Amino acid sequence: MVEAKNESKKEGRCIWCNKKSDSLRQVVIMKGNRHALHPQKEIFYVHMSHEVEFRSFANKVKRYGKTLLSLLWLAIFLIAGFEIILLTYNRVVGLIGISIVTALMGLVLITMPLSSMKTVQKIGANMTSKLIRTAGVVVVAVGIWLLTLSYY
Ligand SMILES: [Zn+2]
Repeated sequence: MVEAKNESKKEGRCIWCNKKSDSLRQVVIMKGNRHALHPQKEIFYVHMSHEVEFRSFANKVKRYGKTLLSLLWLAIFLIAGFEIILLTYNRVVGLIGISIVTALMGLVLITMPLSSMKTVQKIGANMTSKLIRTAGVVVVAVGIWLLTLSYY
């Protein structure tokens, strides 16, 4: 609808900071599904002052969403593989492998704190990326802790 495109005032929550406002801007984002595939137009509402940040977040989700998912799956398979090594061949090699993959996975989350728009719509994009970054730091710490276990 053409008239909806120019609508700048809309009551609701800002998709970036999740705060209620009656002067939100409408932005149209091409958004993939939960597997980061088949992008479709979706409308979000955002404070004018948060539009740039939200657009940059949405762009990163679009550009790196698939990469992030693939990396996380790869990490899960690698960890499973090193777990088999740990249990059957060599405990130290298995543990070192798991801890390195875990720490790298944490670093990936810190550098790409992206998520599906479903979470974003619940708590806002800003909080979502902060939470994922924090989770990334925890995951890196777990990786380092696992590495220390290989010395015993
Ligand atoms: Zn806002």
